[in-house]
Amino acid sequence: MKLDLKSLTQDELSRLLIKQGHPTYRSAQVVQWTYERAAESFEAMSNLSLPLRQWLASEFDLWMVKGLREQHSTDTTEKFLWQLRDGQLVETVLIPATPGLSSSADRHTVCVSTQVGCAYGCKFCASGLHGFRRNLTAGEIVDQVLAIVRLGRTTGLRVGDAPVVADPKFRVQNIVVMGMGEPLANYDNLMKALKIINAPWGLNIGSRKITVSTCGLPAQIKKLATEPLQIRLAVSLHGTTDKVRDQIMPVNQAHPIGELVEACEYYAKTKGRMMTFEYVLIEGVNDDLNMADQLAAMARRLHAKVNLIPYNPMKDLRWQRPSMDRCYAFAARVKSRGVAATLRIEKGGDIAAACGQLRLQAERKPAE
Ligand code: SAH
Repeated sequence: MKLDLKSLTQDELSRLLIKQGHPTYRSAQVVQWTYERAAESFEAMSNLSLPLRQWLASEFDLWMVKGLREQHSTDTTEKFLWQLRDGQLVETVLIPATPGLSSSADRHTVCVSTQVGCAYGCKFCASGLHGFRRNLTAGEIVDQVLAIVRLGRTTGLRVGDAPVVADPKFRVQNIVVMGMGEPLANYDNLMKALKIINAPWGLNIGSRKITVSTCGLPAQIKKLATEPLQIRLAVSLHGTTDKVRDQIMPVNQAHPIGELVEACEYYAKTKGRMMTFEYVLIEGVNDDLNMADQLAAMARRLHAKVNLIPYNPMKDLRWQRPSMDRCYAFAARVKSRGVAATLRIEKGGDIAAACGQLRLQAERKPAE
């Protein structure tokens, strides 16, 4: 079995190279080719000696994801379906702007997956419909971002249906870990991947530009609070009572809302940072205006921002999106209570960009 190069930090790679009798600076050259230049192969690393390139190729895998399908949405969101070494499928979404997430220089957000499938089975979400298959390695998480960087620089990504000219300086500014899977259930690989994504020698994306979303695992939220990396936390709340959450999120039976709130309090206190509550608006489930009041009260207590997301309906599921009027009214009510709330303008609805939808389609009707 070869080692997955992008699961290694520069120090780890350096130690392996030194063991082979190579000077330390070789690791800097290898990571520069890998991350800054998004090299396609070890062969392309032309300032390394041929024997070193051959040794690297015999010991390491450079690319973990292979492009299988792309979907371009009219609103410029693009979705990529990748095949992994073992044939499993994962998705990555490229979003040119995310009005709901943060401010101005918000171009090129990449939404990455952390698992194949998901064990948490939120009732309204496509990712968990076929259960959990496996965790992604750190390299497979990193590679989703790098593959997009490489596409942007070489073949050019699209804007809607129009191909654009490749941009040699294409950069990803933001990472949201909101794709398939529960990131905090793949904690160690996630942290390793984020370290590589954040490192100046790696993808060099600022930690404050990285958001990790969780369905609410209290112990892992507390653990995250003690990490030195200053990433942002988003909690998929979707309900402010056990009654509502139990109905749509089975994780709430194991970790009821009181436990989640306590972990969020700990996080806010320890980190001193604002978190975001995500709240998917589902008709008749959590869109009552009383619930907007409860949500606002909870957000104020925890000093959290609120990101409201109108539900993206799925063919086989019974959940519906409330009318836009209702969504606006809900958002206005939360804001009227003094909470920073955004109603996320939908991206990618026409390309099945909600978690796990593209993979489900592909598994039902495999791409030739
Ligand atoms: N497991 C993590 C991250 C993945 S999901 C989490 O639960 O946060 C990212 C966000 O998309 C979550 O808030 C999730 O609840 C939401 N989501 C899933 N399916 C959706 C759909 N069909 N429409 C709108 N949001 C959805």
